[in-house]
Amino acid sequence: MPAHDSHLWRPYTQMKGAAPPLEAVRTHGSRIVLADGRELVDGIASWWTAVHGYNHPHIRAAVAAQLDAMPHVMFGGLTHAPAERLARRLAALAPGDLDHVFFTDSGSVAVEVALKMAVQLWLNRGVAGRSRILAFREGYHGDTLGAMSVCDPQEGMHRRFGAYLPAQLFCDLPRSRAQEAALEATLAGHAHELAAVIVEPLVQGAGGMRMHEPEVLATIARLARRHGLPLILDEIFTGFGRTGTMFACEQAQVVPDILCLSKALTGGTLALAATIATREVFAGFWSDDPAAALMHGPTFMANPLACAAAQASLDLFEREPRLGQARAIGDRLAEGLAPLRGRPNIRDVRVLGAIGVVQFGRSPDLAALKDRLVRRGTWVRPFGDILYLTPALSIGEADLDHLVASVRAEAWGA
Ligand SMILES: *Cc1c(COP(=O)(O)O)cnc(C)c1O
Repeated sequence: MPAHDSHLWRPYTQMKGAAPPLEAVRTHGSRIVLADGRELVDGIASWWTAVHGYNHPHIRAAVAAQLDAMPHVMFGGLTHAPAERLARRLAALAPGDLDHVFFTDSGSVAVEVALKMAVQLWLNRGVAGRSRILAFREGYHGDTLGAMSVCDPQEGMHRRFGAYLPAQLFCDLPRSRAQEAALEATLAGHAHELAAVIVEPLVQGAGGMRMHEPEVLATIARLARRHGLPLILDEIFTGFGRTGTMFACEQAQVVPDILCLSKALTGGTLALAATIATREVFAGFWSDDPAAALMHGPTFMANPLACAAAQASLDLFEREPRLGQARAIGDRLAEGLAPLRGRPNIRDVRVLGAIGVVQFGRSPDLAALKDRLVRRGTWVRPFGDILYLTPALSIGEADLDHLVASVRAEAWGA
Protein backbone atom coordinates (compact mmCIF):
# COMPACT_ATOMS: atom_id res chain seq x y z
CA MET A 1 0.00 0.00 0.00
CA PRO A 2 1.26 3.50 -0.70
CA ALA A 3 3.48 4.92 2.01
CA HIS A 4 1.65 8.20 1.70
CA ASP A 5 -2.03 8.92 1.54
CA SER A 6 -2.48 9.31 -2.22
CA HIS A 7 -4.83 7.91 -4.81
CA LEU A 8 -2.51 8.88 -7.64
CA TRP A 9 -0.81 6.44 -9.97
CA ARG A 10 2.42 8.14 -10.94
CA PRO A 11 4.24 8.26 -14.30
CA TYR A 12 7.08 5.80 -15.00
CA THR A 13 7.05 4.81 -11.31
CA GLN A 14 7.07 1.46 -9.55
CA MET A 15 4.53 2.43 -6.92
CA LYS A 16 5.73 -0.21 -4.45
CA GLY A 17 8.39 1.36 -2.31
CA ALA A 18 8.27 4.62 -4.22
CA ALA A 19 9.35 7.57 -2.12
CA PRO A 20 6.54 10.10 -1.91
CA PRO A 21 7.04 12.79 -4.53
CA LEU A 22 7.88 16.34 -3.50
CA GLU A 23 4.86 18.60 -3.36
CA ALA A 24 5.07 21.74 -5.47
CA VAL A 25 2.86 24.64 -4.44
CA ARG A 26 4.10 27.55 -6.54
CA THR A 27 6.43 28.43 -9.38
CA HIS A 28 8.13 31.62 -10.47
CA GLY A 29 10.96 32.39 -12.89
CA SER A 30 13.10 29.25 -12.97
CA ARG A 31 12.04 28.21 -9.49
CA ILE A 32 9.72 25.58 -8.05
CA VAL A 33 8.51 26.29 -4.49
CA LEU A 34 7.79 23.21 -2.36
CA ALA A 35 5.13 22.81 0.30
CA ASP A 36 7.80 22.78 3.01
CA GLY A 37 9.03 26.18 1.83
CA ARG A 38 12.16 24.99 0.01
CA GLU A 39 12.83 26.53 -3.37
CA LEU A 40 14.44 24.54 -6.20
CA VAL A 41 16.07 25.89 -9.34
CA ASP A 42 14.48 23.92 -12.17
CA GLY A 43 17.19 22.44 -14.37
CA ILE A 44 14.83 20.84 -16.88
CA ALA A 45 12.03 23.42 -17.32
CA SER A 46 9.27 20.93 -16.49
CA TRP A 47 10.17 18.40 -19.16
CA TRP A 48 11.48 21.14 -21.52
CA THR A 49 8.22 23.07 -21.71
CA ALA A 50 8.73 26.22 -19.64
CA VAL A 51 11.10 27.99 -22.03
CA HIS A 52 10.19 31.48 -20.73
CA GLY A 53 10.33 30.42 -17.09
CA TYR A 54 7.21 29.93 -15.00
CA ASN A 55 4.24 32.28 -14.64
CA HIS A 56 5.33 34.70 -17.35
CA PRO A 57 2.97 37.70 -17.02
CA HIS A 58 2.41 37.98 -20.78
CA ILE A 59 1.23 34.37 -21.07
CA ARG A 60 -0.87 34.62 -17.92
CA ALA A 61 -2.59 37.76 -19.22
CA ALA A 62 -3.34 36.13 -22.59
CA VAL A 63 -4.81 33.03 -20.95
CA ALA A 64 -6.83 35.12 -18.46
CA ALA A 65 -8.34 37.22 -21.28
CA GLN A 66 -9.25 34.07 -23.23
CA LEU A 67 -10.72 32.51 -20.08
CA ASP A 68 -13.18 35.41 -19.86
CA ALA A 69 -14.18 35.18 -23.52
CA MET A 70 -14.34 31.43 -24.16
CA PRO A 71 -12.35 28.76 -22.30
CA HIS A 72 -13.29 26.04 -24.72
CA VAL A 73 -15.60 25.19 -27.59
CA MET A 74 -15.69 22.07 -29.73
CA PHE A 75 -13.72 22.21 -32.99
CA GLY A 76 -15.94 19.94 -35.07
CA GLY A 77 -17.95 22.28 -37.30
CA LEU A 78 -16.78 25.40 -35.43
CA THR A 79 -13.67 27.53 -35.59
CA HIS A 80 -12.29 30.40 -33.54
CA ALA A 81 -9.79 33.22 -33.88
CA PRO A 82 -7.22 31.84 -31.39
CA ALA A 83 -6.83 28.67 -33.50
CA GLU A 84 -6.99 30.45 -36.88
CA ARG A 85 -4.37 32.99 -35.85
CA LEU A 86 -2.09 30.43 -34.24
CA ALA A 87 -2.22 28.14 -37.29
CA ARG A 88 -1.38 31.07 -39.58
CA ARG A 89 1.52 32.06 -37.35
CA LEU A 90 2.91 28.52 -37.07
CA ALA A 91 2.66 28.10 -40.84
CA ALA A 92 4.64 31.31 -41.32
CA LEU A 93 7.22 30.28 -38.73
CA ALA A 94 7.74 26.69 -39.88
CA PRO A 95 10.26 26.24 -42.69
CA GLY A 96 9.28 25.71 -46.34
CA ASP A 97 5.63 25.20 -47.20
CA LEU A 98 4.60 23.47 -43.97
CA ASP A 99 1.30 25.31 -44.14
CA HIS A 100 -1.44 23.05 -42.77
CA VAL A 101 -1.77 22.69 -39.01
CA PHE A 102 -3.64 19.94 -37.19
CA PHE A 103 -3.94 20.65 -33.45
CA THR A 104 -4.01 17.97 -30.76
CA ASP A 105 -3.31 18.01 -27.05
CA SER A 106 -0.11 16.02 -26.52
CA GLY A 107 3.12 15.19 -28.26
CA SER A 108 2.33 11.49 -28.51
CA VAL A 109 -0.94 12.25 -30.25
CA ALA A 110 0.80 14.69 -32.61
CA VAL A 111 3.03 11.74 -33.59
CA GLU A 112 0.01 9.42 -33.95
CA VAL A 113 -1.57 11.96 -36.31
CA ALA A 114 1.66 12.27 -38.32
CA LEU A 115 1.83 8.47 -38.72
CA LYS A 116 -1.83 8.28 -39.72
CA MET A 117 -1.34 11.12 -42.21
CA ALA A 118 1.56 9.25 -43.83
CA VAL A 119 -0.28 5.92 -44.00
CA GLN A 120 -3.48 7.47 -45.31
CA LEU A 121 -1.59 9.59 -47.83
CA TRP A 122 -0.63 6.39 -49.67
CA LEU A 123 -4.17 4.97 -49.42
CA ASN A 124 -5.56 8.22 -50.82
CA ARG A 125 -3.10 7.93 -53.70
CA GLY A 126 -4.47 4.46 -54.40
CA VAL A 127 -1.25 2.70 -53.36
CA ALA A 128 -1.82 -0.35 -51.16
CA GLY A 129 0.54 -2.11 -48.76
CA ARG A 130 2.44 0.89 -47.43
CA SER A 131 1.79 0.91 -43.71
CA ARG A 132 5.17 0.49 -42.04
CA ILE A 133 7.38 3.25 -40.70
CA LEU A 134 11.16 3.44 -40.75
CA ALA A 135 12.47 4.81 -37.45
CA PHE A 136 15.87 5.07 -35.77
CA ARG A 137 17.39 3.21 -32.84
CA GLU A 138 17.62 5.19 -29.61
CA GLY A 139 14.68 7.35 -30.65
CA TYR A 140 11.72 8.33 -28.49
CA HIS A 141 8.40 9.51 -29.91
CA GLY A 142 5.85 9.10 -27.12
CA ASP A 143 3.82 6.62 -25.09
CA THR A 144 0.71 5.86 -27.17
CA LEU A 145 0.47 2.83 -29.45
CA GLY A 146 1.76 4.17 -32.77
CA ALA A 147 4.29 6.43 -31.05
CA MET A 148 5.59 3.50 -28.97
CA SER A 149 5.99 1.42 -32.12
CA VAL A 150 8.57 3.89 -33.49
CA CYS A 151 10.54 4.21 -30.22
CA ASP A 152 13.75 2.21 -29.88
CA PRO A 153 12.52 -1.39 -29.70
CA GLN A 154 15.32 -2.69 -27.43
CA GLU A 155 16.65 0.14 -25.34
CA GLY A 156 13.45 2.13 -25.15
CA MET A 157 11.05 2.06 -22.24
CA HIS A 158 8.40 0.18 -24.19
CA ARG A 159 10.23 -3.04 -24.99
CA ARG A 160 7.79 -5.16 -22.96
CA PHE A 161 5.01 -4.16 -25.34
CA GLY A 162 6.68 -5.65 -28.41
CA ALA A 163 3.91 -8.13 -29.14
CA TYR A 164 1.25 -5.41 -28.92
CA LEU A 165 2.91 -3.02 -31.36
CA PRO A 166 2.89 -2.70 -35.14
CA ALA A 167 6.22 -4.06 -36.41
CA GLN A 168 8.23 -1.14 -37.75
CA LEU A 169 11.69 -1.04 -39.33
CA PHE A 170 14.69 0.32 -37.43
CA CYS A 171 18.06 1.59 -38.58
CA ASP A 172 21.03 3.25 -36.91
CA LEU A 173 21.36 6.94 -37.60
CA PRO A 174 23.65 7.25 -40.64
CA ARG A 175 26.65 8.64 -38.77
CA SER A 176 29.16 6.54 -40.76
CA ARG A 177 29.44 5.40 -44.37
CA ALA A 178 28.53 1.87 -43.32
CA GLN A 179 25.42 3.05 -41.49
CA GLU A 180 24.44 5.18 -44.46
CA ALA A 181 24.80 2.15 -46.73
CA ALA A 182 22.69 0.07 -44.33
CA LEU A 183 19.96 2.71 -44.29
CA GLU A 184 20.05 2.93 -48.08
CA ALA A 185 19.80 -0.87 -48.35
CA THR A 186 16.86 -1.03 -45.92
CA LEU A 187 15.04 1.71 -47.82
CA ALA A 188 15.72 0.03 -51.15
CA GLY A 189 14.53 -3.35 -49.87
CA HIS A 190 11.42 -2.12 -48.08
CA ALA A 191 10.25 1.07 -49.82
CA HIS A 192 7.27 -0.81 -51.27
CA GLU A 193 5.89 -1.41 -47.75
CA LEU A 194 7.01 1.83 -46.11
CA ALA A 195 4.75 4.84 -45.53
CA ALA A 196 7.28 7.27 -44.01
CA VAL A 197 10.55 7.87 -42.21
CA ILE A 198 10.47 9.45 -38.74
CA VAL A 199 13.35 10.97 -36.76
CA GLU A 200 14.10 13.47 -34.00
CA PRO A 201 16.35 16.06 -35.68
CA LEU A 202 19.80 16.76 -34.11
CA VAL A 203 18.96 15.38 -30.66
CA GLN A 204 17.35 12.11 -29.66
CA GLY A 205 15.87 13.26 -26.37
CA ALA A 206 14.23 10.87 -23.94
CA GLY A 207 15.98 7.92 -25.63
CA GLY A 208 19.33 9.04 -24.24
CA MET A 209 20.05 12.69 -25.10
CA ARG A 210 22.25 11.74 -28.03
CA MET A 211 23.17 14.38 -30.57
CA HIS A 212 24.01 14.10 -34.25
CA GLU A 213 25.46 16.39 -36.88
CA PRO A 214 23.21 18.31 -39.27
CA GLU A 215 24.78 16.25 -42.10
CA VAL A 216 23.24 13.09 -40.60
CA LEU A 217 19.79 14.65 -40.80
CA ALA A 218 20.50 15.90 -44.32
CA THR A 219 21.48 12.35 -45.33
CA ILE A 220 18.25 10.91 -43.94
CA ALA A 221 16.23 13.56 -45.78
CA ARG A 222 18.07 12.90 -49.04
CA LEU A 223 17.60 9.12 -48.84
CA ALA A 224 13.93 9.41 -47.86
CA ARG A 225 13.35 11.69 -50.84
CA ARG A 226 15.22 9.39 -53.18
CA HIS A 227 12.81 6.60 -52.21
CA GLY A 228 9.73 8.82 -52.42
CA LEU A 229 9.04 8.60 -48.69
CA PRO A 230 7.56 11.41 -46.62
CA LEU A 231 9.89 12.57 -43.85
CA ILE A 232 8.33 13.16 -40.43
CA LEU A 233 10.42 15.29 -38.07
CA ASP A 234 9.54 15.00 -34.41
CA GLU A 235 10.61 18.39 -33.01
CA ILE A 236 8.57 17.96 -29.85
CA PHE A 237 11.77 18.19 -27.79
CA THR A 238 13.97 20.27 -30.12
CA GLY A 239 11.39 22.82 -31.33
CA PHE A 240 11.15 26.41 -30.06
CA GLY A 241 14.77 27.30 -29.59
CA ARG A 242 16.11 24.40 -27.55
CA THR A 243 18.97 23.72 -30.00
CA GLY A 244 19.74 27.41 -30.61
CA THR A 245 17.52 27.84 -33.69
CA MET A 246 13.74 28.00 -33.66
CA PHE A 247 13.59 24.50 -35.16
CA ALA A 248 16.52 22.07 -35.21
CA CYS A 249 15.91 21.15 -38.87
CA GLU A 250 16.91 24.69 -39.90
CA GLN A 251 20.51 23.82 -39.04
CA ALA A 252 20.52 21.12 -41.72
CA GLN A 253 18.36 23.11 -44.15
CA VAL A 254 15.96 20.20 -44.16
CA VAL A 255 12.23 20.78 -44.61
CA PRO A 256 10.18 17.76 -43.56
CA ASP A 257 6.88 16.73 -45.11
CA ILE A 258 5.31 16.56 -41.66
CA LEU A 259 6.49 18.36 -38.51
CA CYS A 260 5.42 17.48 -34.94
CA LEU A 261 5.50 20.15 -32.23
CA SER A 262 4.38 20.25 -28.61
CA LYS A 263 6.36 20.56 -25.32
CA ALA A 264 7.37 24.27 -25.44
CA LEU A 265 4.53 25.32 -27.76
CA THR A 266 2.55 27.06 -25.00
CA GLY A 267 5.63 28.02 -23.00
CA GLY A 268 4.81 25.26 -20.56
CA THR A 269 1.39 26.44 -19.45
CA LEU A 270 -1.24 24.30 -21.19
CA ALA A 271 -1.37 21.07 -23.14
CA LEU A 272 -1.21 21.62 -26.90
CA ALA A 273 0.46 19.97 -29.87
CA ALA A 274 0.54 20.53 -33.61
CA THR A 275 1.15 18.28 -36.59
CA ILE A 276 2.02 20.49 -39.55
CA ALA A 277 1.93 19.19 -43.12
CA THR A 278 3.27 20.58 -46.37
CA ARG A 279 0.96 21.68 -49.15
CA GLU A 280 1.77 18.49 -51.00
CA VAL A 281 0.75 16.25 -48.09
CA PHE A 282 -2.40 18.29 -47.55
CA ALA A 283 -3.21 18.03 -51.26
CA GLY A 284 -3.18 14.25 -50.87
CA PHE A 285 -6.30 14.57 -48.70
CA TRP A 286 -8.06 17.15 -50.91
CA SER A 287 -10.69 15.11 -52.69
CA ASP A 288 -14.34 14.65 -53.64
CA ASP A 289 -14.24 11.41 -51.69
CA PRO A 290 -15.34 11.86 -48.03
CA ALA A 291 -13.36 8.73 -47.12
CA ALA A 292 -10.15 10.54 -48.11
CA ALA A 293 -10.56 12.96 -45.16
CA LEU A 294 -8.12 12.72 -42.24
CA MET A 295 -10.00 10.69 -39.65
CA HIS A 296 -8.89 12.21 -36.39
CA GLY A 297 -10.41 14.76 -34.00
CA PRO A 298 -9.59 14.99 -30.29
CA THR A 299 -12.38 16.38 -28.10
CA PHE A 300 -10.19 19.20 -26.79
CA MET A 301 -8.58 19.89 -30.15
CA ALA A 302 -7.34 23.50 -30.54
CA ASN A 303 -8.44 24.45 -27.02
CA PRO A 304 -8.70 28.28 -27.10
CA LEU A 305 -6.87 28.76 -23.79
CA ALA A 306 -3.95 26.71 -25.06
CA CYS A 307 -3.97 28.56 -28.40
CA ALA A 308 -3.90 31.89 -26.56
CA ALA A 309 -0.99 30.70 -24.46
CA ALA A 310 0.88 29.59 -27.58
CA GLN A 311 0.28 32.99 -29.23
CA ALA A 312 1.70 34.72 -26.19
CA SER A 313 4.66 32.34 -26.11
CA LEU A 314 5.43 33.14 -29.76
CA ASP A 315 5.17 36.87 -28.93
CA LEU A 316 7.89 36.34 -26.35
CA PHE A 317 10.16 34.71 -28.93
CA GLU A 318 9.79 37.93 -30.94
CA ARG A 319 10.10 40.40 -28.05
CA GLU A 320 12.79 38.74 -26.00
CA PRO A 321 16.12 37.37 -27.27
CA ARG A 322 15.34 33.68 -26.64
CA LEU A 323 17.51 32.16 -29.37
CA GLY A 324 20.51 34.23 -28.28
CA GLN A 325 19.81 33.17 -24.71
CA ALA A 326 19.73 29.52 -25.78
CA ARG A 327 23.15 29.87 -27.40
CA ALA A 328 24.54 31.71 -24.37
CA ILE A 329 23.26 28.93 -22.10
CA GLY A 330 25.03 26.45 -24.38
CA ASP A 331 28.31 28.35 -24.01
CA ARG A 332 27.94 28.41 -20.23
CA LEU A 333 27.04 24.70 -20.09
CA ALA A 334 29.96 23.79 -22.34
CA GLU A 335 32.39 25.76 -20.24
CA GLY A 336 30.95 24.72 -16.88
CA LEU A 337 30.65 20.99 -17.61
CA ALA A 338 33.95 20.63 -19.53
CA PRO A 339 36.03 19.96 -16.35
CA LEU A 340 34.04 16.73 -15.90
CA ARG A 341 35.58 15.25 -19.04
CA GLY A 342 38.02 12.51 -18.16
CA ARG A 343 36.79 12.15 -14.56
CA PRO A 344 36.74 8.49 -13.44
CA ASN A 345 33.06 7.65 -13.85
CA ILE A 346 32.22 10.13 -16.64
CA ARG A 347 31.85 8.57 -20.06
CA ASP A 348 30.85 11.69 -21.97
CA VAL A 349 29.95 15.36 -21.65
CA ARG A 350 28.03 16.88 -24.53
CA VAL A 351 26.27 20.15 -25.23
CA LEU A 352 24.07 21.38 -28.04
CA GLY A 353 22.08 24.58 -27.79
CA ALA A 354 20.58 24.84 -24.31
CA ILE A 355 21.07 21.11 -23.64
CA GLY A 356 23.93 19.94 -21.43
CA VAL A 357 24.43 16.22 -20.86
CA VAL A 358 26.67 14.31 -18.48
CA GLN A 359 26.82 10.58 -19.20
CA PHE A 360 28.18 8.33 -16.48
CA GLY A 361 30.35 5.27 -17.07
CA ARG A 362 28.16 3.16 -14.84
CA SER A 363 24.63 4.24 -13.89
CA PRO A 364 24.58 5.91 -10.51
CA ASP A 365 21.83 5.32 -7.93
CA LEU A 366 19.46 7.74 -9.61
CA ALA A 367 17.13 8.25 -6.65
CA ALA A 368 20.04 9.04 -4.33
CA LEU A 369 21.59 11.36 -6.90
CA LYS A 370 18.31 13.20 -7.33
CA ASP A 371 17.89 13.52 -3.55
CA ARG A 372 21.35 14.99 -3.16
CA LEU A 373 20.66 17.49 -5.92
CA VAL A 374 17.38 18.46 -4.27
CA ARG A 375 19.30 19.08 -1.06
CA ARG A 376 21.51 21.40 -3.10
CA GLY A 377 18.36 23.22 -4.27
CA THR A 378 18.40 21.78 -7.79
CA TRP A 379 15.57 20.06 -9.63
CA VAL A 380 16.62 17.53 -12.30
CA ARG A 381 15.42 14.19 -13.57
CA PRO A 382 18.34 11.89 -14.36
CA PHE A 383 17.57 8.68 -16.26
CA GLY A 384 19.61 5.64 -17.24
CA ASP A 385 23.23 6.79 -17.19
CA ILE A 386 22.32 10.42 -18.00
CA LEU A 387 22.18 13.59 -15.94
CA TYR A 388 21.18 16.55 -18.07
CA LEU A 389 20.27 20.23 -17.90
CA THR A 390 17.69 21.84 -20.17
CA PRO A 391 16.77 24.99 -18.25
CA ALA A 392 14.32 27.73 -19.18
CA LEU A 393 15.86 29.76 -22.01
CA SER A 394 15.19 32.88 -19.94
CA ILE A 395 17.02 31.58 -16.86
CA GLY A 396 19.09 34.20 -15.02
CA GLU A 397 22.85 33.93 -14.71
CA ALA A 398 22.87 33.16 -10.99
CA ASP A 399 20.35 30.32 -11.33
CA LEU A 400 22.23 28.87 -14.31
CA ASP A 401 25.50 29.01 -12.40
CA HIS A 402 23.78 27.27 -9.50
CA LEU A 403 22.62 24.45 -11.80
CA VAL A 404 26.04 24.00 -13.37
CA ALA A 405 27.82 24.08 -10.00
CA SER A 406 25.50 21.54 -8.41
CA VAL A 407 25.68 19.12 -11.36
CA ARG A 408 29.45 19.48 -11.44
CA ALA A 409 29.75 18.87 -7.71
CA GLU A 410 27.64 15.69 -7.90
CA ALA A 411 29.26 14.29 -11.04
CA TRP A 412 32.83 15.07 -9.95
CA GLY A 413 33.19 12.15 -7.61
CA ALA A 414 30.46 9.97 -9.09
C1 LIG B 1 7.91 14.26 -25.03
C2 LIG B 1 8.06 13.78 -26.41
C3 LIG B 1 7.02 13.14 -27.07
C4 LIG B 1 5.70 12.82 -26.39
O1 LIG B 1 5.03 13.96 -25.97
P1 LIG B 1 3.88 13.82 -24.84
O2 LIG B 1 3.31 15.20 -24.76
O3 LIG B 1 4.59 13.40 -23.60
O4 LIG B 1 2.92 12.83 -25.32
C5 LIG B 1 7.22 12.74 -28.38
N1 LIG B 1 8.37 12.97 -29.01
C6 LIG B 1 9.42 13.60 -28.41
C7 LIG B 1 10.67 13.85 -29.17
C8 LIG B 1 9.29 14.02 -27.09
O5 LIG B 1 10.32 14.61 -26.49
